[in-house]
Amino acid sequence: MIFRLLIVIALIALAFFLIRRLRLRLRLHQDKKNKPRQLHPFEETVSCKQCGLRLPKSEAIEENGAFYCNKEHAEK
Ligand SMILES: [Zn+2]
Repeated sequence: MIFRLLIVIALIALAFFLIRRLRLRLRLHQDKKNKPRQLHPFEETVSCKQCGLRLPKSEAIEENGAFYCNKEHAEK
């Protein structure tokens, strides 16, 4: 009986250990995902042709070779 109890306790401990390791790995994975954004603080910026607002090129709307801050300005 005692031997069985020990096995059960060992299994529970192992499960906790595995869950903790899995969580740690998931957190590391998320950190890696988030890093590239923080590594490029000096992204190329463009100014809106309509209002002159400066914004990252990736967030700007390109229309006929000019950049705009939002759809409204791009349509005008
Ligand atoms: Zn604008």
